[in-house]
Amino acid sequence: MSGEERSYQAEGIVLGARALGEADRIVRFLTREHGKLDAVAKGARRPKSRIGGRLEPAGRVEMMLHRGRSLDVVVSVEERSRRWAALVEPERLAVASLALERVDVLCEPGEPVPEIFALLDATIEAIAKSEHPHRFIARFSLRLLDLLGSMPPADRCCLCGDPLEDRSWLDASEGGMLDSKCRRPHREEIALDPEDRINFAALGRERGAGAAVEARPQAAAAIEALIAHYCARPLRVSALPGYAFGSL
Ligand SMILES: [Zn+2]
Repeated sequence: MSGEERSYQAEGIVLGARALGEADRIVRFLTREHGKLDAVAKGARRPKSRIGGRLEPAGRVEMMLHRGRSLDVVVSVEERSRRWAALVEPERLAVASLALERVDVLCEPGEPVPEIFALLDATIEAIAKSEHPHRFIARFSLRLLDLLGSMPPADRCCLCGDPLEDRSWLDASEGGMLDSKCRRPHREEIALDPEDRINFAALGRERGAGAAVEARPQAAAAIEALIAHYCARPLRVSALPGYAFGSL
């Protein structure tokens, strides 16, 4: 194998990290080119490590990696966007951690989706500047589901395909909204009125005409239920695992 094949370049956002051995870290990135990727940052836990100092959580970096036998190794890092200083504020940190964790849980390694990279990058930038970062979570989460092909339509029943008219019900276990014919009432269903569905559709739309940022309560609840379903476990701001930031 030539030297060129053994090393490659990638642009990544740091999703999290954990300790490896005495002084190393395994850092998890979402990369534009290769999707989710774990790589070893050698000596990154040493106080004066240049590589370690540049791999801050949620930061965007340009790096050179070397193919390793099991894990690839980060050889050099250039910072493209530092957000850590702005994110060290409890609400921003909680919301940013949630965004990073949702990408980590829902994205598969080695399956690049450049639109998800761009979505995460723009969302972290917005959170770092916002006094009310919670407002970004509903839209971010639904856009993420859309880019992964899991956003349900807001205008027809996901079982029979009939157009939705008055009230409908989000049933996360069915992956979408149900009309009164198909609905099987249970505690987890979320009732959506026509205005809630319009808001839901607008939250999932790409930036531009008709896109919304502000979520109505029922639309936000519907998105959270879908996320919990696809993550196969509930994810809550108050119950964040230490993974994303704990060991950095
Ligand atoms: Zn139906």
